[in-house]
Amino acid sequence: SNKSWLYFYKTNLLFSMYKQQIINYLTQHKQSNLKLKAVLFDMDGVLFDSMPNHAEAWNKVMKRHNLDMNKEEVYMNEGRTGRGTINLVCQREHGRDATDEEVTKIYEEKSDLFNSLPTAERMKGAYSLLLKVKSEGLIPMVVTGSGQHSLLKKLEKHFPNTFKEDYIISAYDVKHGKPDPEPYLMALKKANISANEAVVVENAPLGVESAVRAGILTLAVNTGPLDDSILLDAGADIVFPSMQALADNWDLLQNDILYCSKNSGKKKK
Ligand code: MG
Repeated sequence: SNKSWLYFYKTNLLFSMYKQQIINYLTQHKQSNLKLKAVLFDMDGVLFDSMPNHAEAWNKVMKRHNLDMNKEEVYMNEGRTGRGTINLVCQREHGRDATDEEVTKIYEEKSDLFNSLPTAERMKGAYSLLLKVKSEGLIPMVVTGSGQHSLLKKLEKHFPNTFKEDYIISAYDVKHGKPDPEPYLMALKKANISANEAVVVENAPLGVESAVRAGILTLAVNTGPLDDSILLDAGADIVFPSMQALADNWDLLQNDILYCSKNSGKKKK
């Protein structure tokens, strides 16, 4: 009966941290199951601990131009294009968009300063998670708004034999960046899979929004200074305190995904 099924469900939920969130995802997106084939990783703040450098570069260059952008605001707007970021601050401080010259100058200076800072390290936990992902036969992909020309080289250097060129989606592959769903929809298209065959790992509110709008189960890793509530409000299905925590709990999560997919299948019959 419905009642005993519900009891069974609730009892089992007590043994897991993730079942309820997975069921919520399946319900919201009208999916009956999750059959993972690929894991879609954002880059800055997920694979690399690069956000402190971005925050410092934006903060300093804005100041140079008599604009105020504190570091938390950089984290809040991570994923926006350079122009979008500059306009946001210019609107607030001057009540107008930045001119083309301002955009070019500020963005150039920001990139120069960013490139002069020490190279960001691999995020702790990222490599061990990727080894697990690979050993399970899942496709690791990168979905980033970054337009760095040396992306593939950089990824290959820090994560050898992990990401195939076809499975890296960057600023050059899409018209609309995050929070538009296009980058994540493009990733699904390139891997020839559906939304319920992937999971996203994101650290930024706009990235989370993009992934959720693409209909994919979205794991947020809170690697910056923002409150968990900001990532949850953006639509994250589950929030982890770090990449290491996600790596440590990856097997549990896989078990819960399998469990929820089996049970939702049974329910339909
Ligand atoms: Mg990020």
